[in-house]
Amino acid sequence: MRGGSVAVVGGSIAGSAFAGAAARLGAERVVVLERSPGRLEDRGLGICTHNDRFAELVDAGHVPPDTRRHRLTVRRWVTRGPAGGTGGAGGPDGRGRPLWVQPFPFHSHHWAVLWQTLRERTPEVVEYRPGTTVTAVGGDRGGAWTEQADGTRTPYDLVIGADGYRSVVRAAVCPEAAPEYAGYVCWRGSYDAALLDDLPGGAAAWPEEECATVCYPGGQVVLYRIPGLAPGSTLVNWVFYAPTPDWLRLDGPTAVAAGALSDEQLDGMREFAARQLPPYWAAVIARTPRERTLLQPVYDLAVPYRTAGRLLIGGDAATVVRPHNTSGAVKALQDAHTFELAGRRLGGRSWGPLLAAYDRERTPAGRELVDLGRSLGRAQVTAAPDWSVMDGAAMADWWQGQLSGGPGFGGHALGRAG
Ligand SMILES: Cc1cc2nc3c(=O)[nH]c(=O)nc-3n(C[C@H](O)[C@H](O)[C@H](O)COP(=O)(O)OP(=O)(O)OC[C@H]3O[C@@H](n4cnc5c(N)ncnc54)[C@H](O)[C@@H]3O)c2cc1C
Repeated sequence: MRGGSVAVVGGSIAGSAFAGAAARLGAERVVVLERSPGRLEDRGLGICTHNDRFAELVDAGHVPPDTRRHRLTVRRWVTRGPAGGTGGAGGPDGRGRPLWVQPFPFHSHHWAVLWQTLRERTPEVVEYRPGTTVTAVGGDRGGAWTEQADGTRTPYDLVIGADGYRSVVRAAVCPEAAPEYAGYVCWRGSYDAALLDDLPGGAAAWPEEECATVCYPGGQVVLYRIPGLAPGSTLVNWVFYAPTPDWLRLDGPTAVAAGALSDEQLDGMREFAARQLPPYWAAVIARTPRERTLLQPVYDLAVPYRTAGRLLIGGDAATVVRPHNTSGAVKALQDAHTFELAGRRLGGRSWGPLLAAYDRERTPAGRELVDLGRSLGRAQVTAAPDWSVMDGAAMADWWQGQLSGGPGFGGHALGRAG
């Protein structure tokens, strides 16, 4: 594969990483075709990475060690608690009855900071074409092509699909694979952490290194801080797993973008939070501006194979894992790493063996992650325990039960799966 031309469809986390990998493997021309014409960084929220997984990616040269991120050390699980029980509805500080404090060796990132970091490190040979929507792809063992809405077809030696969960490239690689709705949604929000000072108890009630997990019957909210876009700033970031709202149409895997929720839809979510959560956390959510609140249905997707002819898929195009496992970005970077490593191992002979090696290594790894995401989702949302009877010992057992046999919370170790 030394020399040759590569098109990468999608210029987000997976797209940037694959483009860099293809360039380092010696492709002569690497073009990233990204649908979005504007600034991707305006849309991102929080992503967490396990410290060990991040260190592996630093060692492998994908991200610099000084990538701006926020340190998390503990995960505090709380619930409203039984009326009249320890802590009552909100506990003395309104933060709920503690269930368990778990070590949490993770850092949080602003999606956009991570993405910018990857883009800055992309070799110069890579050409980004924002505002370019690919409508179809195809090819055979000898080559591949992309097509745009005006019918223009461009040939390449390889087309990489990094075009997310509604992937056009996946539709050509394995048309039978489609995301499956998990049966619940996540509402998400973020805002300047300085606004916490206005809440009763203020920002001090919630330690900076603590990821809070607030459990209620039928769901949970996960809240943590992330770095802001401006160096030195910090944002609050939350993910609220909740039942499907009556108004949501699920006629395709889609999200309601930040700023697009109506007053009624937002009020409905805030009232639900006020009924279910300890007062402090309901207030943290209610503080979120409309333009920073969005809704995503939760999906699962694992493909039976990732390559066909000279087409390849990676990142969310190949595997959509429920967010409980906090492995989305790591998994995308590991896909690109495996592709690059296989290319180096095979010494630039041809694309066929490289694609076969990538498929062999990443398809089972993706499936394991999806299975773990399902197991975590069942245990924490759709078949969650009665929180009112849980204590620290019961929580620790319950947690171990969710992980048994899986790839590990936060994703596979790079050496094992990659
Ligand atoms: C703007 C943005 C913000 C995000 N913010 C967060 C976040 O805050 N937290 C989080 O956990 N995850 C977030 N994600 C998702 C996260 O990036 C992924 O779950 C994970 O990192 C894997 O990324 P990916 O590159 O495989 O897929 P994605 O990040 O979904 O990227 C797919 C890319 O392909 C482009 N694309 C899709 N179809 C076409 C087409 N036909 N032609 C050309 N381009 C196409 C999309 O515009 C997008 O840029 C965000 C994604 C985007 C695009």
